[in-house]
Amino acid sequence: MVIIMRPEATLENIVEVTRVVESAGLQAKIMEGAQQKIIGVIGDKTKLVSVAIDALPGVENSVAISKSYKLASREFHPQNTVIDVDGVKIGGGEPAIMAGPCAVESREQLFAAADIVKAGGAQFLRGGAYKPRTSPYSFQGLEVEGLKILAEARERTGLKIITEVTTVEGIAPVAEYSDILQIGARNMQNFGLLKEVGKCGKPVMLKRGLAATIDEWLNAAEYIMNDNPNVILCERGIRTYETYTRNTLDLSAVAAVKHLSHLPIIVDPSHGTGKWRMIKPMAFAAIAAGADGLMMEVHPNPAKALSDGSQSLTQEHYLDLMNGVKKIAKFMKDENLNPIVID
Ligand code: PEP
Ligand code: MN
Repeated sequence: MVIIMRPEATLENIVEVTRVVESAGLQAKIMEGAQQKIIGVIGDKTKLVSVAIDALPGVENSVAISKSYKLASREFHPQNTVIDVDGVKIGGGEPAIMAGPCAVESREQLFAAADIVKAGGAQFLRGGAYKPRTSPYSFQGLEVEGLKILAEARERTGLKIITEVTTVEGIAPVAEYSDILQIGARNMQNFGLLKEVGKCGKPVMLKRGLAATIDEWLNAAEYIMNDNPNVILCERGIRTYETYTRNTLDLSAVAAVKHLSHLPIIVDPSHGTGKWRMIKPMAFAAIAAGADGLMMEVHPNPAKALSDGSQSLTQEHYLDLMNGVKKIAKFMKDENLNPIVID
C-alpha cells in the first residue's frame, strides 16, 4: 500500500502517519513524489484494518499495490530511480556504459581492455573475478587476485568497477574492491545471496535469469530492495527454442520494466546474442527503446580470450559502436524523443 500525502502536509503529519503504520507492526518508507510525499507501507496491510489511514491529518488517500513485488513497483515509487555511483548517474538520461572483458585474465589483459573501454567513453569497467562457468573444467576466474587487478585499473583510469559476486562469502571482498556488485543470471533466484547482497551498502545490478519471467525478476529485485534501494536491472537474453543465438535478447523487457518498475534497466547484447556481429545493432536498438545503458564484452584480443571471445568486441568494433551509441543518445535528447510510455 502507498499513502499519498497532501502537498501541504506538514512534517508532523508525516511523522504521525509513520508512527501509526509502525505501531501496527508494519514498515513505513518515506519517498519524494512529483508534487508530494508518499509513504510506502510494507507488510500485511490487514493489520491496519481498524485504522482509518485516509482520515489522518495530511493524508490525501491510500492505494493498494496490486503486484506481488512492492518496493520495485512503479505504483509504489512513481518517479524513475536514478542511482548515483560516486558521481556517475544511472537512469538519469545519459546512457551508462559498462564494458570490459568477460573475465579478468591478467593485469596486462585488463589494463589493455580498460584503456580501450575508457577511450570509447564508458564510465564502468566490467570483468569477472569469480566466473560461474557451465563446465567445472573451464577457467573459473582469478578470484581475489582478479578483484585487486580491477581496483588497480580503477586507480589508473578513473573508471568505476562492476564485477560479479557468486557466493555469500564473496560479498565482502567484492564490495571492498568494486563500485557495483553484479548478480549473474544463474543466481537471480538464489534468495539467500540476494538477501545478503542487499546489506552490502553498494548498488547491485541484477541480471535476468536464463528462464525468468519479468515478474520473477522483479520479485528477485524485491529481496535486495528490502535493505537496499539501489538496484539496477539487466536484460541479458533468455532461453528460447532458437539456437542460432546463444540467448534471445528480449528488448521488449525494457518497455515492460519501465511500465512496471521505477528501476533503471541496462541491456547486455553480448550475452544476449553470443555473437559479436550482433552487438552493435542490438545496442543501437536498446538505446532507442529507452534502456538506461549497456553492458558489453570488450577484449584486446578476443581470439585469445579465456571465456566468451566470440561475443567480445575488438577495440575497432567497440569504438565504432560507441560512436553510434553517442549519436543516437544525443539525437534522442536533442529531439526530446522519449520512447517510454508509463501510463
Ligand atoms: C557476465 O556478465 O559475466 C555473465 C556471466 O553474464 P550472465 O550472468 O548474464 O550469464
Ligand atoms: Mn561473459
